Amino acid sequence: MERKFLEELAFIKSKGQLRALRLVESEQSVEVILNGKTVLLFCSNNYLGLANHPELKRAVIEAIEKYGTGSGASRLVSGNMLLHEELENCIARFKGTESALLFNSGYHANLGVIPAIAGKGDLILSDELNHASIIDGTRLSRAEVVVYPHLDIDFLEHQLKRSKHKRKLIVTDGVFSMDGDIAPLKELVELKEKYNAILMVDEAHATGVLGRNGRGIVEELGLTGRVEIMMGTLGKALGSFGAYVATTNTIRQYLINTARSFIFSTALPPSVCASAIKAIEIIQKSPELIEKLHSNVRYFKRGFREFYPHVLDNKIPIIPLIIGGSVETMNICEELLKRSIFVQGIRPPSVPEGTSRLRITITASHTEEQLHTALNAIMKVTSASRRNLLPLKKIKSGKLQ
Ligand SMILES: *Cc1c(COP(=O)(O)O)cnc(C)c1O
Repeated sequence: MERKFLEELAFIKSKGQLRALRLVESEQSVEVILNGKTVLLFCSNNYLGLANHPELKRAVIEAIEKYGTGSGASRLVSGNMLLHEELENCIARFKGTESALLFNSGYHANLGVIPAIAGKGDLILSDELNHASIIDGTRLSRAEVVVYPHLDIDFLEHQLKRSKHKRKLIVTDGVFSMDGDIAPLKELVELKEKYNAILMVDEAHATGVLGRNGRGIVEELGLTGRVEIMMGTLGKALGSFGAYVATTNTIRQYLINTARSFIFSTALPPSVCASAIKAIEIIQKSPELIEKLHSNVRYFKRGFREFYPHVLDNKIPIIPLIIGGSVETMNICEELLKRSIFVQGIRPPSVPEGTSRLRITITASHTEEQLHTALNAIMKVTSASRRNLLPLKKIKSGKLQ
């Protein structure tokens, strides 16, 4: 029995795709102790540095003293506590929706919401570069799933036009997590209105990053009120854990009754809600935090463009440096670690075959000096070996699902 698993592991390794855990022995700041060595962190989604913010820590400690460490049951049994509802109200106000519903993570949210909204006899249209949790959600539903080519609006319209399904759900990442590009939400909203479909936008990398005071990409593009389901995580820019769906009262009530990952899982610990409430409060009263993130992104991309002209000129703090092969990608990752820069290599199946990459992320906590250090190191490590760095748009997007 063991041998079979060992053989499969050897096969994964032969492709250069064997994964191993690295150990962080410090808190999640820009400088972390990784496997015993101090390095500069350039691959965390802690975009605003809130994961170790003193005010969040204090809020969590106070909540634990008042409400304890666990919720003890699912929300529908005895786990629905004051802080869950307080956070949901806070998110609904923040997102400009009637209501919000918490899930235990973004993964849980996508896994629960998609099959709840679309089932047998329905159609789901899903961008081919959507996050794995969306893919898994579509697989769990018993709907017909059409995976459309990345950002291909014409293809999408063709599918909508021919559809005779009871219900149609379009689901997309707002900001694509591995490429740092943006979904054409205006066009998607127009299409779903024209064809009477439901639109669900995953704002995992837009929450706390885009829009007024971090309200997200739907708000940034002036589409508040026109997207039925906005999902986002509390684990990335908001520095905590868990996720939300911001939506109407009716859809919230429907999800409470039908989303299995909501119904059959223990509610988040109340202290986790306290940190998210504090995070939303902080980004509303300190807009300079998000401004710092954007000025860091501008600074880094300006430098980066000099040797990698393909970098997307947007506000997104995700910068893919596409290498191609998995072995090569991990070699570059190790070379950077020798220079005390940590950018994790990302390989299939997280990205399509042949597009392994370093996924660099910038945060508000980096100093210009640290950004400069990273730029220099990345430039040296990639040019020393005269790598062929690929532009995103020239890569034929591969099938992921
Ligand atoms: C990270 C991520 C998720 C999952 O969120 P978690 O809270 O980390 O489970 C979902 N969608 C996208 C686009 C993500 O990047």
